[in-house]
Amino acid sequence: MSHFAYRNETLHAEGVSLDRIAAQFGTPCYVYSRSALESAYRAYDEALVHRDHLICYAVKANSNIAVLSVLAKLGSGFDIVSGGELARVLAAGGDPHKIVFSGVGKTVEEIRTALDAGILCFNVESEDELARVNRIAGEMRRVAPVSLRVNPDVDAKTHPYIATGLKDNKFGIPFSAALPLYKQAAGMKHLRVVGIDCHIGSQLTEIPPFIAALQKLLDLVDRLATAGIEILHIDVGGGLGIRYRDETPPPIAEYIRALTTCMGDRKQTIMFEPGRSLVGNTGVLLSRVEHLKHGADRNFAVIDAAMNDLIRPALYDAWHDIQAVAPRRTPTRRYEIVGPICESGDFLGRDRDLSLTEGDLIAIMSAGAYGMTMSSNYNTRPRAAEVMVSGNEMHLIRERENVAQLFSSERLLP
Ligand SMILES: *Cc1c(COP(=O)(O)O)cnc(C)c1O
Repeated sequence: MSHFAYRNETLHAEGVSLDRIAAQFGTPCYVYSRSALESAYRAYDEALVHRDHLICYAVKANSNIAVLSVLAKLGSGFDIVSGGELARVLAAGGDPHKIVFSGVGKTVEEIRTALDAGILCFNVESEDELARVNRIAGEMRRVAPVSLRVNPDVDAKTHPYIATGLKDNKFGIPFSAALPLYKQAAGMKHLRVVGIDCHIGSQLTEIPPFIAALQKLLDLVDRLATAGIEILHIDVGGGLGIRYRDETPPPIAEYIRALTTCMGDRKQTIMFEPGRSLVGNTGVLLSRVEHLKHGADRNFAVIDAAMNDLIRPALYDAWHDIQAVAPRRTPTRRYEIVGPICESGDFLGRDRDLSLTEGDLIAIMSAGAYGMTMSSNYNTRPRAAEVMVSGNEMHLIRERENVAQLFSSERLLP
């Protein structure tokens, strides 16, 4: 993570020290590096130069409109899962013709709004949804572009909560049902079949499951061609993992090479829906130590960030590196890094050897994906500020919430 590095013994985001950011905007605070984000996008884009391709960033990983606009300016498309995300992408200047709409529960209103915006395609997840999209498109006198999200039944070998490509998961159309459903779709008056897609899970660190899924898709594409149904794009989903600790995911270019090799000389546009691998290592959560509790068995560092700010450790037992912003030379102790929330699951890191004093700043690394977007107001905690650094400049891209905002839409009984 060269975009976050020590200079003069202080951790910096690009050219700005994290203690300056804390002094200006307070903590907890998410800090992103614009150049890290741009490099990650370019790693995808450059590996795909020889192919017709579209990268649709999975908005749910980090949906701040500044993040979306940096990617939109680079030519990125977007993978959305709600009408809310559609609104964000449009507000950020994203091109509607580069939006794909995924998700198992698209509402009538969401489908209408997306059709109206002129999105690239609906990634349809069930027979029921297919009929609904057809009906709404008919009512609007439109033709809806659709892709079927096929569930290839491959084991992504990741955490069970983020594996989505097994036949027991709620996602996608069972592989064996896909061909008949495509035939049905091709006969529906208000639909145009344009693509095929899949997404088998998240934080995958090996290439073979991606290849297995793509091969099944290609097999289906051939059978569809025989049946007279032409597929224009093949969307392989997202899911490439990042290094949090000692994982060794393949570099983006290697992953792309493996998949494009598998595509051979096919002419379809290849599409990707990366989330975590674009933004995960472009952000940190900056927090301050409130209290130290040194016990007989355990030492606790109670910090001002908590599971409401970053839920991954509590939810998936995920490991994030934790670094002191200005490391001390005094001997370390082994700490449980915990938040102030009334839950024993409220920890950000366990068994961390650090030298800490009350008031010290720490950075929870690799927090750019599924950090802010999964945050909540549990314990009536205002959500953190977000800052994006670009070179020597820092920009506040989301103000810290205040307590009054949190209950301003609530009402007392008469
Ligand atoms: C979450 C999701 C993604 C992105 O997954 P990452 O692991 O963040 O790359 C892509 N496509 C779909 C359909 C998703 O649900």
